[in-house]
Amino acid sequence: MAEHIKPKYIDTFYRRTISGSVNYPNLQHEHSTQVLVIGAGLAGLTCTLELAYKGFQVTAIDTNKIGWGASGRNGGSVSPAWSANSDAILHKVGRNHFDELYRLSMEGVSMVKEYATRLAANTCPLQFGHLKVSTYNNSDAFMRFCDDQNKRYGRELKFLDQDEVKQLLNSPRYYQGVYANDGFHFHPLNYCHALAKEASRLGANIFENTPATTISRSNYGFKVKTPLATIDADIVVICTGGYTGSLVPKLQQSFLPIATYIMLSEPLGNELKQSIKTRAAIGDTRRAGNYYRIVDGNRLQWGGHITTRTTDPENITRILKKELALCYPQLKDIPIAITWSGLMSYARHMMPQVGMLENNLWYCTAFGGHGVNTTSAGARTVAEAISGESDRYRLFRPFGLVWNGGQIGKVAVQLTYWKYQLQDLMKEHCNLG
Ligand SMILES: Cc1cc2nc3c(=O)[nH]c(=O)nc-3n(C[C@H](O)[C@H](O)[C@H](O)COP(=O)(O)OP(=O)(O)OC[C@H]3O[C@@H](n4cnc5c(N)ncnc54)[C@H](O)[C@@H]3O)c2cc1C
Repeated sequence: MAEHIKPKYIDTFYRRTISGSVNYPNLQHEHSTQVLVIGAGLAGLTCTLELAYKGFQVTAIDTNKIGWGASGRNGGSVSPAWSANSDAILHKVGRNHFDELYRLSMEGVSMVKEYATRLAANTCPLQFGHLKVSTYNNSDAFMRFCDDQNKRYGRELKFLDQDEVKQLLNSPRYYQGVYANDGFHFHPLNYCHALAKEASRLGANIFENTPATTISRSNYGFKVKTPLATIDADIVVICTGGYTGSLVPKLQQSFLPIATYIMLSEPLGNELKQSIKTRAAIGDTRRAGNYYRIVDGNRLQWGGHITTRTTDPENITRILKKELALCYPQLKDIPIAITWSGLMSYARHMMPQVGMLENNLWYCTAFGGHGVNTTSAGARTVAEAISGESDRYRLFRPFGLVWNGGQIGKVAVQLTYWKYQLQDLMKEHCNLG
């Protein structure tokens, strides 16, 4: 277990949320497989399932449990796009390549929708609607965005003016909004379990509490060591996200683990109903902004804030409540049931890292804070490459494994975050002034 995560948070969250779960054994004997997937988060489980559907003999292992990392404890909001800013991607790869990537991110949304509906209708129902709201006056940009997305990608985004936003969200902080009916939110941990169950049904082997400690070349493929066993595999896919350790130093040096935080309220009454009158997932325009939704019909799940610190701040709840109070002063004293954190994996370019380290040794990681749709899409491209069906994974080539900058990289990220916060404050202040 990563030392910076406080076990009490994770265990409480894991137990509270899980439904219809299966415990998978840890591996205690020699094992051989065609494809070994290391890391059973959304990237690893989706890759496992896609390969199992294609008839491969697949094994997935995780140091902890299914979905224990970011995948099982995230905000559960699913919408198109990547973690990197669209302008930056467009600038780097040009219009056609950008459009292909954007459509791939939409395909990721459709994949999650299809799998969740087919495999987990009871444990993981989808709540449709995604609302993005601006904390400053942003009419023109939001209108242009809706127009462009609708024309170019056939979406049905709806621009909401300030009054329309006010009818949905009783907050003094928000201006305009964009409502997407193709976005949704759901229960991410139950979704992970549904993927694992289906992969298992198709014959995939899944082992929990089974960390990969070394990977080496053998005559036929790879030998991967775990504390109690050795796994022979023809092909290896590394999907270890923000929890990537020293297994492959090149990967470890190519991403930064960034923490983000969520709190979940106790059941609430009228104060919640009168404050948030939509069931959509909500996110605001602040960089590393707030993301929240109503869950269980009467609880507020509120996420936000990022740090590069390797220990959780003692006062996560206080930090999140401060933001909540700015958005909804009337909710500032609501009782909080639990709070937790998780690690996202960010490359410097903020795009996923998907590709081959050497022949038959794949990586599929660094999906950042927009990871539910993108892990699915990235994992599918790797499965297609392994089966020889497509080389769509090359769409990620312009981004690649870039050195994370070590300790200086961490400092730079923290400084950039503070700069963004300052810019957000200035934009908001200009509106107020
Ligand atoms: C708090 C939080 C909120 C978020 N909210 C959203 C959201 O609302 N919408 C959205 O789209 N994205 C969100 N994200 C981002 C999204 O959750 C991630 O991008 C995505 O889940 C990453 O999936 P992954 O499979 O790459 O990594 P992970 O889910 O982190 O999985 C990696 C797994 O690898 C395992 N592992 C590591 N090393 C080894 C090893 N040596 N051997 C075996 N196993 C190993 C770990 O135990 C872990 O289970 C959020 C993230 C966090 C942390």
